[in-house]
Amino acid sequence: MSDVRNVIIIGSGPAGYTAALYTARASLKPLVFEGSVTAGGALMNTTEVENFPGFRDGIMGPDLMENMRAQAERFGAELVADDVVAVDLTGEIKSVTDSAGTVHRARAVIVATGSQHRRLGLPKEEELSGRGVSYCATCDGFFFRNHHIAVVGGGDTAMEEATFLSRFADSVTVVHRRDALRASKAMQERAFADPKIKFAWNSEVAEIHETDGKLSGLTLRDTVTGETSELPVTGLFVAIGHDPRTELFKGTLDLDDEGYLKVDAPSTRTNVPGVFAAGDVVDHTYRQAITAAGTGCSAALDAERYLAALS
Ligand code: FAD
Repeated sequence: MSDVRNVIIIGSGPAGYTAALYTARASLKPLVFEGSVTAGGALMNTTEVENFPGFRDGIMGPDLMENMRAQAERFGAELVADDVVAVDLTGEIKSVTDSAGTVHRARAVIVATGSQHRRLGLPKEEELSGRGVSYCATCDGFFFRNHHIAVVGGGDTAMEEATFLSRFADSVTVVHRRDALRASKAMQERAFADPKIKFAWNSEVAEIHETDGKLSGLTLRDTVTGETSELPVTGLFVAIGHDPRTELFKGTLDLDDEGYLKVDAPSTRTNVPGVFAAGDVVDHTYRQAITAAGTGCSAALDAERYLAALS
């Protein structure tokens, strides 16, 4: 079948572009669906990235992604700024349908569709992302040395972020809707024992305030009485969960309880032969650009070996 490609990659973050680079250099001529809105992935929405190895002085997120894109293209990856809207992955030849209804076929597919952090959905939240509002303590904690900050959430991630952030910040206020945490006992105890961590129980963020383009405070609302109060912080970490982009694959690829794709770790093999998955769509533990790029590389090598065994 002459129109059947070797490999199609769905997604254009660090995982997708790294998989594209490796498969392109292996002469597999990958077709990459980058997505119509957010080609380049999550780092397109951030400012400085200081923890991607190789950039001693840091690099702006969009510049890093443009470099990855150009590097994959240089070796022959075909990049399309379009969404995949349907897939049929079960047979030896997989089909992927684009938004115009065109069906593309390949022997192997790499899924690197990432995950979406949940937002509070408040005015100014988006505008101040990277300017006081953050969704990743590991990524941004360092920028908040000596700040007073708030962490929203009550699960393990929120407690982990609060504990991590207390290394840098002068104070961390955990804002939680209920009067008890969902986090594991060990995580709770660690947070309760930390003198820099305070708790605003039965509270939610009602308003985000801005001064000179930066976060300058929050209005909290008591979820029981409805009363409001001001919290003077310059950092807001939203830790209310992530939603992996796995809608397309439900019913075909195995998902875990939280909706992430399951792989036969340490490989990137899914339950369907010839389908591999990498990056944040699989990973709810590390969620870093470098780990996404690392598993993107693994997926490319796994796909390469799978294709070699077919021929
Ligand atoms: P993503 O980057 O999420 O990319 C997935 C891509 O797939 C998207 O472009 C999406 O449009 C596309 N896609 C999804 N579905 C489809 C479809 N059906 N068809 C076509 N395309 C599709 N990490 C760090 O290491 N350092 C940092 O400083 C850092 N800062 C961050 C700041 C912010 C604001 C955020 C949100 C994240 C940050 N991270 C940082 C985390 C890092 O961005 C992610 O871990 C990484 O981008 C995950 O890569 P990925 O390739 O798995 O997915």
